[in-house]
Amino acid sequence: MRITALAGGVGGARFLRGLLEHLATTRASDRAQVTVIGNTGDDITLFGLRVCPDLDTILYTLGGSVHEGQGWGRSDESHHVAVELAALGATPQWFSLGDKDLATHIYRSQLLGQGVPLSAVTARLADRWGLPEAGVTLLPMTDAPVETHVVVTEAGEQRAIHFQEWWVRHGAAIDAERFVVAGLDSAAPAPGVLEAIRNADVVLLPPSNPVVSIGIILGVPGVRDALRGTRAPVVGVSPLIGGRPVRGHADICLETVGVESSSAGVAGLYADFLDGWLVETDDAMQEPRPGSGPVLVRRPLLMSSVQAAADIAGAALSLASQLAAKKGGESRP
Ligand code: GDP
Ligand code: CA
Repeated sequence: MRITALAGGVGGARFLRGLLEHLATTRASDRAQVTVIGNTGDDITLFGLRVCPDLDTILYTLGGSVHEGQGWGRSDESHHVAVELAALGATPQWFSLGDKDLATHIYRSQLLGQGVPLSAVTARLADRWGLPEAGVTLLPMTDAPVETHVVVTEAGEQRAIHFQEWWVRHGAAIDAERFVVAGLDSAAPAPGVLEAIRNADVVLLPPSNPVVSIGIILGVPGVRDALRGTRAPVVGVSPLIGGRPVRGHADICLETVGVESSSAGVAGLYADFLDGWLVETDDAMQEPRPGSGPVLVRRPLLMSSVQAAADIAGAALSLASQLAAKKGGESRP
């Protein structure tokens, strides 16, 4: 079974870890190939180093070395370099970079500097974390540098700041007018991205941020069309419980793009390709009329443990297999 998933950082990574757990316990892992298309809109250059927060969160989580409490960064981390940089007065100081984590960024930057494309760099990092042995291929959505920026007004002056500055430094507390994604319109999908969607048996949308994680991947030219055209059922998991994100500020991101912070609002962003949609048991979303929206499944969606995430992933796969037979016979306009 070829499973393709689009993923951001923490929400995506925890879902994927659950998916692998589910595949292992149902003895399906030797038959399953999981391809993850990761968001690179969060990428940022700090101290001359290229940092890919969402890809790294997936690598560390699937590699068993993530800081569980934070959901990102390495466990058992030290911060000697950051302390020394602060003593030098180097900026920015609002983005935490641990010593072990820095090795990833140094290695990535070295290879990128030698002209190695991000997808090839990511493959080498994935080797380090044992992803191939786990049946996982991690692809950045594109090899082109793409950066999400946020247009904000401060002291009456409008300017664009990097998404990380808005999210990490300001906690999304400065009013955002809109998101501008530098480089996205001309970004070619990384090698294998469109094929992974077109040739999949199942496409999964983990509960990643619909605007600044999944939404950015959908903006890579060709990705949305591939999703609309794939014969694989596309099944998503709502990132909202009770209309609110479990962590982070997806509600503010949705408001910024003029979409209601609800599972129905998020499903609307995926309306042209979404076949199945997992929402929390008591979610307010109404069951769409057959053919006019995704098939809904209501169940607990809190990934409170690896097992809880595995059960959610299992439910997504089971909905996909129900939808597969139906979808195989139809073709989409
Ligand atoms: P980020 O890049 O680190 O922000 O991570 P993602 O974009 O992959 O995921 C962020 C989203 O994951 C947020 O909108 C959260 O609401 C969602 N999320 C986090 N934990 C859970 C969970 O346990 N259950 C569900 N349903 N969503 C979650
Ligand atoms: Ca992210």
